[in-house]
Amino acid sequence: MPDPSSSPPPVWRLALPVPLPRLFDYRPPDGETAVAGDVGSRVRVPFGSRELIGVVAEVGAPEGGTELRSALARLDPEPLFQGELLESLHWLARYTHAPLGEVLATALPAPLRRGEPLPDTHAWAWQLTEAGKTARERLRAGKPRRLADRLHDGPCDEDRLDDELDDWRSAARALAKRGLAERIAVPALTLAPRAQPGPALNAEQQVAVDAIHAARDGFAALLLDGVTGSGKTEVYLHAIADCLARGKQALVLVPEIGLTPQTLARFRARLGVPVHALHSGLSDGERARTWTAFARGEARVVVGTRSAVFLPLPEAGLIVVDEEHDGSFKQLDGIRYHARDFALVRGKALGVPVLLGSATPSLESLRNALTGRYTHLRLQQRAGQAQPPSVRICDVRKRPLEAGLSPELFDAVARALDADGQVLVFKNRRGYAPVLLCHDCGWSAQCQRCDAPMTVHGGGRRLQCHHCGARRPVPDACPDCGGLALQPQGAGTERIEEVLAARFPDVPVLRIDRGTTQRRDALEQHLAAFGTQRGILVGTQMLAKGHDLPNLTLVAVVGVDEGLFSADFRAPEKLAQLLIQVAGRAGRAQRAGEVLLQTHHPGHPLLATLIAGGYHAFADSELEQREMAGFPPFAHMAMLRAEAQQVDACDAFLRSARDALRDTGAPLDVHGPLPAPMPRRAGFQRMQLLLSGADRRSLHAALDAALPAIYAAPEARRVRWSLDVDPVDL
Ligand code: ADP
Ligand code: ZN
Ligand code: ZN
Repeated sequence: MPDPSSSPPPVWRLALPVPLPRLFDYRPPDGETAVAGDVGSRVRVPFGSRELIGVVAEVGAPEGGTELRSALARLDPEPLFQGELLESLHWLARYTHAPLGEVLATALPAPLRRGEPLPDTHAWAWQLTEAGKTARERLRAGKPRRLADRLHDGPCDEDRLDDELDDWRSAARALAKRGLAERIAVPALTLAPRAQPGPALNAEQQVAVDAIHAARDGFAALLLDGVTGSGKTEVYLHAIADCLARGKQALVLVPEIGLTPQTLARFRARLGVPVHALHSGLSDGERARTWTAFARGEARVVVGTRSAVFLPLPEAGLIVVDEEHDGSFKQLDGIRYHARDFALVRGKALGVPVLLGSATPSLESLRNALTGRYTHLRLQQRAGQAQPPSVRICDVRKRPLEAGLSPELFDAVARALDADGQVLVFKNRRGYAPVLLCHDCGWSAQCQRCDAPMTVHGGGRRLQCHHCGARRPVPDACPDCGGLALQPQGAGTERIEEVLAARFPDVPVLRIDRGTTQRRDALEQHLAAFGTQRGILVGTQMLAKGHDLPNLTLVAVVGVDEGLFSADFRAPEKLAQLLIQVAGRAGRAQRAGEVLLQTHHPGHPLLATLIAGGYHAFADSELEQREMAGFPPFAHMAMLRAEAQQVDACDAFLRSARDALRDTGAPLDVHGPLPAPMPRRAGFQRMQLLLSGADRRSLHAALDAALPAIYAAPEARRVRWSLDVDPVDL
């Protein structure tokens, strides 16, 4: 035991949100002492000329110099980060090789990151005032009257009103103005909707629910591998209900475009507890309230996108990742984490099952299921009455095409409409046309800041770059030859919409893409207005999932050929997933569905395998090819990227990084430096260095050993660089 009077008082070792891979020592504010229980608390500190919010990572004896600065304030009476969450975030920092301070900042909603105190977590509800109770029956029919009638039985919380009544907020304001209703704060857990029963499970669903039940007392990874419409969501609902019945919390992760009001309403109606939503459309304040409600154990269920994986779960019982193959679970900038993979890490640390669901599982998860690391649960039948759609290839070689659509496609659309059905024409390219070409000299409109053509928009009047956002009008004449033969080449959703509207003037044609559907609820509103009448939907992958369109009988897929010949080794997997998901939109209810696949490559092995054997046949052959080629999941990869005004600066930095990695002597393949797939973007030159190794551990050991030199290299100061472990876009 050292003599306490002779050793200096302990200091805080802080994780700060700065791009430096180390902790920073600070003394506590004057008159305070640093104790082990401070770990996980936020503190405000001076840093250079700024102030930063840091988190106490360790408490210990000061190292080296004695001239330590003092922290300005301790912000949390109780540590904000505790137990499992803190440990898992430490793991994430090690795995992504990112500074702990940046990882912790990423895990927090913005107000908490800024150092604000934990917010009030009351829920808000509405109730009639005494005056409102007596006046209710005298109110004229209309929205305020409907709301008053709804509140007649007692207070109702705002989430539930959102589900039940349109436009209730304006009605509530009208009642409040007349003193007839008031907004009240209520403890978050008191106002639960009554749980409604669902359909009786079929045999396959019951097997899955039983397996999850059997696994509920510890960590287990389960892959719910079920065709579209097979009732996976019903299985989640049963598993979550069981988790709630045991008094535990459930986290449900869904893809960016899967979190629709329809989905939420389904969870709310069935579970009988308040269901929180967490997505990018919420205000910072709402996000902070949800985070806090989970930390306090008040909230029980959240359905959220990627960042919901950072919620504290002190009473965790279950984690569900729906559509686990979806690309939106991977964050592509800042801390490049994969929410599904981090969910598995948390499940293990929490000792709870993690249920991954998909109709088209990622090859990583599928392999884990096939080798027995994950429990493989399969749903091979569509639930209820629905039948799988029939798939037909439409060979368009030598056929006359209009906006890329063949006569056979128009005929099929006409037939479906004649039978009072709905049609979806799927093309994964928004805008009017992907290229503007001069027919006289071959000039095409390129973005001035990116190595990419500009997309034609606005019916042919505007040019827009989908990579940097640059816009300009379509020129009157060719800038190169002065000719007037500028022609849009190819077709995006806008042009397809135009052609279909001209061909089928007596039915509505609705286009759904990021151009028409900026806001989260816009998609829902458009589809609700479209209803179940006969008509045509034209859309990008925004329409590939999430919505039940019971009257959809034909799905026509055009433009798949572009995906068949990509350099990215993951392109076939992404294309197969997209095709199966889009095809799965057809025939979800009583009516039979048909899928028409237009292609110039009817004999392409990917299409042949997919149609003859379905996703699993494709996945088997793709896994074999990945194994032969030494690609994930049979190898582990990391990507070092650099961008700068000068390509030489990127090259020099990546070369020095390559040397540092080679010096470690680790058994790694290092490819590059090579230009990125898009070598120039938004005015920056971009290069990359790909690392690949058969063994995950030696890849990480090499990175650990080389990163100090990479950070310190003089070449690093002339570029913006980043490291991406398990990159998804090569
Ligand atoms: P998935 O999530 O696999 O796409 P859902 O859970 O959304 O499938 O189910 C698809 C449709 O089938 C929904 O309308 C759902 O209500 C219905 N459904 C699910 N399970 C059953 C069942 N056991 N019996 C009858 N209908 C079911
Ligand atoms: Zn020209
Ligand atoms: Zn651009």
